[in-house]
Amino acid sequence: MLEVHVLASGSDGNCIVVQLDDEAVMIDAGLSYKYTHKLMELEGIDESTIKALLITHEHNDHVAGAGVMARKLKIPLYCNQNTFMAFNAGKVDWREIRMMGSFDLCGMNVTPLPTFHDAVEPCAFMLKADGSNVLVATDTGKLSFQCEKALEEADLAVIEANYDSKMLRDGPYPEPLKKRIASDHGHLCNTVTADAIRKTAVNENRKIFLAHLSKNNNTPDIARQTVSDITGIKRFKIDCLERLGDTRTISVSR
Ligand SMILES: [Zn+2]
Ligand SMILES: [Zn+2]
Repeated sequence: MLEVHVLASGSDGNCIVVQLDDEAVMIDAGLSYKYTHKLMELEGIDESTIKALLITHEHNDHVAGAGVMARKLKIPLYCNQNTFMAFNAGKVDWREIRMMGSFDLCGMNVTPLPTFHDAVEPCAFMLKADGSNVLVATDTGKLSFQCEKALEEADLAVIEANYDSKMLRDGPYPEPLKKRIASDHGHLCNTVTADAIRKTAVNENRKIFLAHLSKNNNTPDIARQTVSDITGIKRFKIDCLERLGDTRTISVSR
C-alpha cells in the first residue's frame, strides 16, 4: 500500500513521508529531529521504516533538521550537488541526484522535477509505485512543464497554495518581500494552483492536498474555497493542514 504522511508543511517547517508497505522515504526535514519524531509517533510511523531523506532545496524550513535526521536514522541524504553545497548538513552519507534523473528507492521510482524558486537548484519530486503516482511540488513561483505533466499524471498531488493574492497585497509584509513571494521564483498563489489543477483534470480520482500555506497571507478556508471555486472540485475533497502540529495520512491507490 502506498501512503503519504504529511507531517508539516509551511514556513515553520516541511516534512513528508512517503511509505510503500514497510519502507518509506522522507522528503525534507525542516523541523528538529525531536519534534519530527513526535509527529511520526502521532501518525504511527515507525522511524526504522524510513530508508532515505530527499531534499528539495536548501531553505531552512526544508533542511533545518536534515543533517541530524540523517545521522539519527542512519540513512543517506539525497539531493543535487548545488543544493548540498548550499547548506551545512554536517557529516552525512550524501547521494547525488540529478534533475529529471529517475532512480529507484524502497520499491518506488523517484524523479526530481525542476521548480522555479529563489534557491540554487530547487526541485519537486514525482514518486511512482504500485501503479500510482504521487507529486510533491511546493516552493515554486510557477509550475515547470515537467511539474504540470506530473500534476496531470498524479493520483495524489501535494501542491503548494502559498498565498491569497489580496491578503498578500493588503498584508503587513514589506514591499520587497511581497514582490519576492509573488515573483516567478517565489511561491504559488491559490488561483494559479487552482488553474493548474483545473487544466490538468483528466484523472477523476486524483486527490489534491494543498501545501505550504502561508500563515500570514492565506488561511486553510480561503485556500480550499478558492481552489474549489475555480476547479469545481467539492470543498470537502480538498485537504490541507490546519496548523503546525496537524498531520495527515493519505492513502494512494488507483
Ligand atoms: Zn519552503
Ligand atoms: Zn523555499
